[in-house]
Amino acid sequence: MQVYCPSLTQYQRWETRCVMIGNVGVGGDNPIRIQSMTTTNTMDTEGTIAQSIRMIEAGCEIVRITAPSIKDAKNLKPIRDGLRTRGFNTPLVADIHFTPNAAAVAATIVEKVRINPGNYADRKKFETHDYSDQSYREELERVRDKFMPLIRICKENGTAMRIGTNHGSLSDRIMSRYGDTPLGMVESALEFIRIAEEVNYNDIILSMKASNTQVMVQAYRLLVKTMVDEGMNYPLHLGVTEAGEADDGRIKSAVGIGTLLEDGLGDTIRVSLTEEPEAEIPIASILADRYEQKNDGSRPLPEISRIPYDPFFHTRLNTKKIFNIGGDEVPRVIGDLSDKAFIHYEDLGQFGYLYSPNQDKWHISDLAIDFLYIGSNSIDFEIPGTLGIIQEYQGTTPGKKYFQLYTVKQLDNIPVDKVSFLTCGDSDNVFPNLKSLPNCILILDTDHEYGYSAQRRFFIECIEQGITNPVIIKRFYTGYTKDELLLYSATDLGALQVDGFGDGVWLNSDHDKGFINEISFGILQASRTRISKTEYISCPSCGRTLFDLQETTAKIRARTDHLKGVKIGIMGCIVNGPGEMADADYGYVGTSPGQISLYKGQDVVGKNIDVDGAVDSLIQLIDSNGDWVEPGDV
Ligand code: SF4
Repeated sequence: MQVYCPSLTQYQRWETRCVMIGNVGVGGDNPIRIQSMTTTNTMDTEGTIAQSIRMIEAGCEIVRITAPSIKDAKNLKPIRDGLRTRGFNTPLVADIHFTPNAAAVAATIVEKVRINPGNYADRKKFETHDYSDQSYREELERVRDKFMPLIRICKENGTAMRIGTNHGSLSDRIMSRYGDTPLGMVESALEFIRIAEEVNYNDIILSMKASNTQVMVQAYRLLVKTMVDEGMNYPLHLGVTEAGEADDGRIKSAVGIGTLLEDGLGDTIRVSLTEEPEAEIPIASILADRYEQKNDGSRPLPEISRIPYDPFFHTRLNTKKIFNIGGDEVPRVIGDLSDKAFIHYEDLGQFGYLYSPNQDKWHISDLAIDFLYIGSNSIDFEIPGTLGIIQEYQGTTPGKKYFQLYTVKQLDNIPVDKVSFLTCGDSDNVFPNLKSLPNCILILDTDHEYGYSAQRRFFIECIEQGITNPVIIKRFYTGYTKDELLLYSATDLGALQVDGFGDGVWLNSDHDKGFINEISFGILQASRTRISKTEYISCPSCGRTLFDLQETTAKIRARTDHLKGVKIGIMGCIVNGPGEMADADYGYVGTSPGQISLYKGQDVVGKNIDVDGAVDSLIQLIDSNGDWVEPGDV
């Protein structure tokens, strides 16, 4: 078994060593800690203190502050002292990139330093080198010489350290040897850990962040497996980088962080939103608190002794195509109007279908559902051509584009030759019947407290039993706030999508149906299994930020949010931005106050552009590369 977590069938947190950050323990028996990062200029002492207090009062247990230079690092002292004299003892972390000297200063002031192994000892030049084993060893010696002084300072001062690998900022050395891969991310951190362990320095926490949720999940899983193999148990700091803002940012964070938390991985989390840092805290708390409440009274799931798929590499489960579901088709989205006795054409508006009576025409948005479930109700208007209707089985013959939904009790009624749907629970043994039902699409529901595991267990059984019928994942959530619904459903459905499971999603709750529909498409987008909108990879901003990220992101979004599938990176600084935006198609990156540079992929195509006309320049760039369409033409 390729172990990457303690159990695939019951909630069990992976036991890590406890690392103290000042008075806050991370890992071991400690609760999952919530943290965030200031966005003020570190030289603005009072501004940083005030923002830190807002974060702490919102529930932030660890505050990170950027230290881009020695001057900033030294200024952590008055910030720390200002907080302490006001009665706030929350531990502080210095965020270091490229400046080992600043780390050495900060490590004597704050409780933890974060270094990025991709740029601590290396300057990124996007060059590929051909290393022999000998020359690679020599490179590691050079890294060791640069890193060892910081370890000694941390040891002397009782300062903890996060070795924080980012997918977008792997060193040229790692990229040359391992490529832009989860394995490269893991090795990037392990090289530094091995050096620290030479002098028995173990106050280390690890992170493997990426903006791509699939890469992020795979990297953490691989890290845990590698640590288990090497007898290590360092605590994990979880995060999705540049998740963006608003609901999309929350969904993306939940897909990445939630997937790992479900398997008991993660000792501290940071949700990175392009919003005020205190807005991140309630979101992180909702994600973490769910696991404080997990109880052992849930229905036991049969154990999994073998994982019949690669959990370190995303591959979609191979199902056969039935109608337009399964096979290579994008995951389908099902809307639910079964609670509506009389369905009017206007009810379809919340599901992406707007009917214009004057033109006698349906306007179909990018977030238009593929199927609508109407229960035992009926529809008396002509449905849009791209929509299928699913009805409760009533013994009648369905019309064109109408499909019947059977229950397990009605299994014997399912026709062999007609496309039909069967709803079942995660513990229903429908596998023998499915072998003789080649046109049956499964709707997999669950009432299990640990629903992701229960549904994953079902998919594994499908693989073991050779079942290739497509499966739609169904979840119903009731009694939750909007944020809880958003985060829990993104975790549960997104985790399965990241694993490659599910040919569609059917999400329902007692909240507004338009909101539910947006979540469904958002989950697929965040899991990178169905792209239906523009993707913004925007950094959360920090003390290095050179323009107002929230305002700029809003401006760019207003002009480009119809560019389905285009990925736009919006990064606050040139130091980290180009690397961090990783796989964005276009980049808008701060270079100096009032100026930005534009990127096509990783290449700079416009330098030091005045911010006043910069959004227009970005659009010209998108246009000149053939990715622009006028909003009305979409
Ligand atoms: S990319 Fe954004 S969050 Fe990262 S260092 Fe630059 S300004 Fe700060």
